[in-house]
Amino acid sequence: MPFKLRIKSIIAFVLFANFLIGQETSYIHCGFFLDVEKSSIQKEVTIIVENDLVKDVVQGYVNPKDNSTVINLKNKYVMPGFMDMHVHLEQESNPKRYEEGFRNNDADIALKATTFCEKTLMAGFTTVRDLGGTGINVSLRNAINNSYIKGPRIFTAEKSIATTGGHADPTNGVKDELRGDPGPAEGVINSPEEAAKAVRQRYKNGADVIKITATGGVLSVAKDGSSPQFTLEEIEAVVKTAKDYNMITAAHAHGAEGMKRAVLGGIHSIEHGTMMTEEVMDLMISKGTYYVPTISAGKFVADKAKIPGFYPAIIVPKALAIGPQIQQTFAKAYKRGVKIAFGTDSGVSIHGDNADEFVFMVEAGMNPWDALKSATVNAADLLNMSDTIGSISKGKKADIVAVSRNPIEEIAILKKVDFVMKDGKVFKQ
Ligand SMILES: [Zn+2]
Repeated sequence: MPFKLRIKSIIAFVLFANFLIGQETSYIHCGFFLDVEKSSIQKEVTIIVENDLVKDVVQGYVNPKDNSTVINLKNKYVMPGFMDMHVHLEQESNPKRYEEGFRNNDADIALKATTFCEKTLMAGFTTVRDLGGTGINVSLRNAINNSYIKGPRIFTAEKSIATTGGHADPTNGVKDELRGDPGPAEGVINSPEEAAKAVRQRYKNGADVIKITATGGVLSVAKDGSSPQFTLEEIEAVVKTAKDYNMITAAHAHGAEGMKRAVLGGIHSIEHGTMMTEEVMDLMISKGTYYVPTISAGKFVADKAKIPGFYPAIIVPKALAIGPQIQQTFAKAYKRGVKIAFGTDSGVSIHGDNADEFVFMVEAGMNPWDALKSATVNAADLLNMSDTIGSISKGKKADIVAVSRNPIEEIAILKKVDFVMKDGKVFKQ
């Protein structure tokens, strides 16, 4: 057997032996440990990881007594894996996207999406919420959970729920004979009863969370980007039914009226929130509603709308009007005390560039610690998963990332993640 091949088989054997024993322990020596719950940096900390969980976090560099792996991050800043509460893993903006809708089969979409999943994980995002696709996102989640492909832990909404002609009606802008009249099974509703059915259908299809489009949207082939598209009663039916299945709800919203109805109806997070008024902000504060700003998407669409032909003509004025507003709205909402969870709308913007959002948030006046919290503890709280993810602590999932400089002093360093561990497995080192 050639030497290289022999080494490879020895490594394979060792890995297999570890697998048979069923226990893998690693000791991570962290030069700088960012405690996102206490907003403090501790020097020289060891994280002990057993299988997929954090077994302990201890002061000083502790060495294993057995032959467990030691991971040297002594010159790194170590923190919990990031969480993006608004992505679309099935797609990525490009001028041909609308045409591709008629040409790509599910397999084409799925195969392309595997690269988006991997890019997202390699950028340090160990958990995401996929807020709407065709249902392929459910298969992506399952494929990642089964280790067929590399990607973040996904909580998926499967298909967004819309009203007829509304944002996420899949037949908008399509010629008559192809248009049909999609109903609750396809995620289009026109009454509280249909809203309940659409939620139950999403549950049946494998969704983890529910997303509605409470107002018009920028990228749908329709004129209006901000008027309300759901009645309060329909929203209440969505939230009430989702609660039966233990699912949280998210509402895409640009205009204030649709946003107000969503908050009053009990939705857990407002996405984009472009024209959020002070009245809506105060309502969100009193109800505990999260704001997921997606500044990245706003900037991306406003930029691309200036390139002739990048978007269909009906989309351009909406992108130019709505895009640039999100960062200012975010600045006001943060100052006023609205709870913020990190979200980019990647898929509208480019997958793997998710950490740009940190820079945009800090640029708008957010404290860097708060920016980190929005993508860790807050996101976990929004998902109702605080006992499992969101911080590096005993008993939680071992989702760990590291960068080479202090992100509290230099937030943009989060765009260059050197180390990624998810579920106790190293994906980037
Ligand atoms: Zn979106």
